[in-house]
Amino acid sequence: MRGGDGAAVTAIAAQGVLTIDLGAIVDNWRLLRDRAQPAECAAVVKADAYGLGASHVAPALAAAGCQTFFVATVDEGIGVREALTGAAATADRTAEPVIYVLNGVPPGGEAEFARWRLRPVLNSLAEIDAWAVAGRAAGRPLPAALHLDTGMSRLGLDEGEQRRLAAAPERLAAIGLTLLISHLACADEPDHPLNTEQSQRFNAAAAMRPACRRSFANSSGVFLGPAYHHQLVRPGAALYGIAPTANRPNPMAGVVTLLGRVLQVREIDTPRTVGYGATHRASGPTRIATVSVGYADGFLRSLSNHGCGFIGGHTVPLVGRVSMDLTTFDVTAVPPERLIAGALIELIGPNRPVDAVAEAAGTIGYEVLTSLGRRYHRIYRGGARAVTC
Ligand SMILES: *Cc1c(COP(=O)(O)O)cnc(C)c1O
Repeated sequence: MRGGDGAAVTAIAAQGVLTIDLGAIVDNWRLLRDRAQPAECAAVVKADAYGLGASHVAPALAAAGCQTFFVATVDEGIGVREALTGAAATADRTAEPVIYVLNGVPPGGEAEFARWRLRPVLNSLAEIDAWAVAGRAAGRPLPAALHLDTGMSRLGLDEGEQRRLAAAPERLAAIGLTLLISHLACADEPDHPLNTEQSQRFNAAAAMRPACRRSFANSSGVFLGPAYHHQLVRPGAALYGIAPTANRPNPMAGVVTLLGRVLQVREIDTPRTVGYGATHRASGPTRIATVSVGYADGFLRSLSNHGCGFIGGHTVPLVGRVSMDLTTFDVTAVPPERLIAGALIELIGPNRPVDAVAEAAGTIGYEVLTSLGRRYHRIYRGGARAVTC
């Protein structure tokens, strides 16, 4: 790590330790790929690979055979292109991996896309027209995906725009259309009626361009079955260990382990309260461990009096409010010899899966991961397991 020697060791001892298992991400990608085949399995690495580090994740997946990546913004696309270009594992490829930018082309941004060989997902007629202008200027149709809104009401051509486009097909003449996409609103609820409604709308719209590859499924969509796979699936969350389907066992391997450091342990007697706002009151003699992670690290404040940690074989309740840099746990049940200063407490990991942390915080695993802070000592594991198929 940076700095090497003694100073670094002190820093490690003072901080939380975040371990990201790239091997587990690759295993998860293979599971999704096998599930979706013969469709191709892409990887969504937007928001810095859901907070886990796209410059590590994308090369690991490319080495395992992933050919298509999705990011949200141009800057993310440039970062992933640089990481993939630098990665030795992809150097001997004939075709370099494809990168799609979901949020489309910002006005005037066309040159950056060409320079970094990024493909926009075109979300409106205005973006289509601007991309066609860029293609005419380049003297060749430039590749892009087209997003059809089938029920998210967020991005993509709505039904009116789809009709206008169908009436004026020449608007696409200068565009190298490589993919039609749409996005599911309720894929994690297999019985939700919107899934079949969106599917019907997507199939009807895509039938007008039978030659074009289609992509519909996010992580959860992969588990809705083959009718949702089309030619390319776009999982993100499941790669990072988040359960794809609500109220079902999670088939994905855990990826993230977050350990906090115990800074102090104190015995308190009643009547005493813990933390800001005195929101927790000890009901008897209690042992409190103060841990080196707070909401500034993305350990969400909504975990106050709701979260848990795991230490010395015990699941222990988070008591009081999460502060900026510190969190307190009731460790009365833990044998004192397991609680020396510097001991590690699991905050996310095999005993505290990311979805359980999210539920305690009243949110979703996506937000827990993308909130993970920058102060942690980060360890990447298992990236060298490169097997092509
Ligand atoms: C984020 C995103 C995905 C990936 O979704 P997950 O639920 O994380 O698998 C796929 N497609 C689009 C358009 C997205 O915005």
